[in-house]
Amino acid sequence: MMNTSFEKRIQICFRLLLVLALCLTVTACSRNEATVEQSGQFMEIIGTPDEQHMMYNPTTEPPTEEPTIATLGTNCIGLTEKDLPEDAKVMYLTFDDGPSSNTPKILDILDRYGCGATFFVMKSDYEDQYKNIVDHGHSIALHTYSHDFEDVYESTDNYFADLERISNVVFDKTGVRSKLIRFPGGSSNTRSRSICEGIMTELVDEVEERGYAYFDWNADSEDASGNNIPSSRILEASTSYTQNKIVLLLHDTNQKDTTVEALPHIIEHYIDQGYYFLSLNENSPTAHHGVLN
Ligand SMILES: [Zn+2]
Repeated sequence: MMNTSFEKRIQICFRLLLVLALCLTVTACSRNEATVEQSGQFMEIIGTPDEQHMMYNPTTEPPTEEPTIATLGTNCIGLTEKDLPEDAKVMYLTFDDGPSSNTPKILDILDRYGCGATFFVMKSDYEDQYKNIVDHGHSIALHTYSHDFEDVYESTDNYFADLERISNVVFDKTGVRSKLIRFPGGSSNTRSRSICEGIMTELVDEVEERGYAYFDWNADSEDASGNNIPSSRILEASTSYTQNKIVLLLHDTNQKDTTVEALPHIIEHYIDQGYYFLSLNENSPTAHHGVLN
C-alpha cells in the first residue's frame, strides 16, 4: 500500500512539472520578438500579442482632426463650387494658347498638388495633349482655332466658322463638346476695333445665344507681357491678388518655360491662403471685362 501511494504522489508531481514546463514554453513563445514592415520601414516589436497591439506604430492611426481648407484645397480635381463651404476662396488657373510641349509638365504639377484647371486651346502640333488634359480631369475650353485676329474678328461669320473648327478638333480628340470659350485678347480687346468696329458687341451676345459661356480673367500672371518673362516676376504678379474668386490668366506655349517654373510657387502661395483650385464650368465666375468695341 505504501509503495502504491508513493508512486501516485510521484506521478502527480511529474504531471505538475509537465504542466509547469508547458506553461513556461507557451509564455516564452508568445514573448518572442516579432518584426513587421510598416510604411516602408522595419520596426521591432517585443511583447505578447496584446502588448504588440498596444505598441503598434501610433503614427499609422487615422487622423482624428477634421480636414482643413488647406488640405482639401490640394485635392480638388473633379470638384465644383457646390462641393465647397459657402464663401470658399477659389482659384481658377486658366491656360491659354495650348496645347504645347509644356502641357505635360503643367499637368504633372497640377497632379502633384491635386489642382483642377482650365485650358483654352487652339490648333496645335501636340494633338495627343487635348485628350491628356481631359484625362487628367481638367476642363477643356475653346480659344479659336487660328488665334488670328485679322481673320476671326473680320466678321461674326468668320469668328463662328473658326470656333466651330476648334470645337470639332476638341470633340474628335476628346469626345467633349465644350461650351466654354475665351476670346483671343479677351472680350475687352481693342485690336478688333480696327478690323471690324463693333464686332465684340455683337459676339458677346451671339455666343451666349448659341449656348456658349465666355470667360475673361480678373488676375494676370503677366506671362504674355514679353518673351522669357522671369519666373520671379510671374510669381510676383500672380500672387498679388486677394479676391475670393480668382480667375488667373496664364499661357501654355512652347516658349513659356518660366510659367512652368513659377507654377508650383503660385499654387503653394494660394494653398497657404486657403484657396481651392477648381476647373471652370458653365456656372463658374465669368470675370467679364466689359466690351470696348
Ligand atoms: Zn490667346
